[in-house]
Amino acid sequence: MPDTFSDVAEWRRHIHARPELGYEEVKTSAFVADKLKSFGIETHTGFATTGVVGVIPGARGPGRTIALRADMDALPMTEMNPFGHASTHAGRMHACGHDGHTAMLLGAARELARNPDFSGAVVLIFQPAEEALGGARVMIEEGVLDRFEVDEVYGLHNWPQMPAGTIGVRTGPMMASCDFFSLTVTGKGGHAAMPQLVVDPVVAAAQIVTALQTIASRNVPPHEAVVVSVTQFHAGSADNVVAGTAELRGTVRAFRPEIRDLAQRRMNEIIDGVAAAMGVRVDFDYRRCFPATINSPAESDAAARAAARVVGGENVRRDEPPSMTAEDFAFMLEARPGCYIWLGQGTGASTHMLHSPTYDFNDAVIPGGIAWWLEIVRERLG
Ligand SMILES: [Zn+2]
Ligand SMILES: [Zn+2]
Repeated sequence: MPDTFSDVAEWRRHIHARPELGYEEVKTSAFVADKLKSFGIETHTGFATTGVVGVIPGARGPGRTIALRADMDALPMTEMNPFGHASTHAGRMHACGHDGHTAMLLGAARELARNPDFSGAVVLIFQPAEEALGGARVMIEEGVLDRFEVDEVYGLHNWPQMPAGTIGVRTGPMMASCDFFSLTVTGKGGHAAMPQLVVDPVVAAAQIVTALQTIASRNVPPHEAVVVSVTQFHAGSADNVVAGTAELRGTVRAFRPEIRDLAQRRMNEIIDGVAAAMGVRVDFDYRRCFPATINSPAESDAAARAAARVVGGENVRRDEPPSMTAEDFAFMLEARPGCYIWLGQGTGASTHMLHSPTYDFNDAVIPGGIAWWLEIVRERLG
């Protein structure tokens, strides 16, 4: 497969130089569809606007169907890298390595099409809009898993925190649910020197920020994980004026649905209580974004066996701590059993983290990523 690796690195750099945001992956989507067709793979376009699906039937007759998924979208940020394949689209950057995911799945697709020595079928899902937009959810709602009769789903993400040559596979929670909230505190503005005549929304909002910290420290059991982060606090326009309103925004993360529910319920109760105590009105909006990414047991074991054949058993990390970041592959794992793995790509001190303006996908992990796709097919359909 040496030609595959150099081709895939070239495709990866081609995509990296042309980053597109969620649901706008027009060129990327066309590139993927053209490649799949050139490999002789049955290709479907138009899912969730720019999503692409390829279907490869196995040569060994009927069997189960597994889906392999890659994400295609980039981020709205400016790349700071000096190299030749840096972004040519102003304010757009492949800073999460989805260029690498897409290219590696294309590489695996070509190998599987050349040698379909498996039963059942492999469905290749190239999804748009992973970054906070939930392209996976839209593709599921449009019936991608039902239409192609998918039994199991598999995904991967490059992981700079782990060294190249390692793979992380957890059973159970891998990444957290992700919700966002905003609230507006309305009091009564006025002269800063006459506090007796105002209802200060800044003081009330500050109490809310403090009180929300007790969800993690006093409500959620210590052996469970939750994050309640107030990330924005906006109020006021002058040093001598008490503002009429204050705005807070932030995010909530959890691994278990019960803890997610608890955090949301306690936020409502705390905000209502502080509002009553401070005499302000609070308009609170809580938006559920992604569920937690939860790997099912049998499929995780299969993913780990596949990983061991690629990097050796000693380099498969079954106990890497889960991450409180989120991933919309969670919707696919809610709908079907499956597994999502981390493909280590760190290179020591020179490693740049995901979403950094100096990040780049590490092409050295391309062979391992493709090999894991091929091994998971062999594991489940071989
Ligand atoms: Zn990302
Ligand atoms: Zn990503």
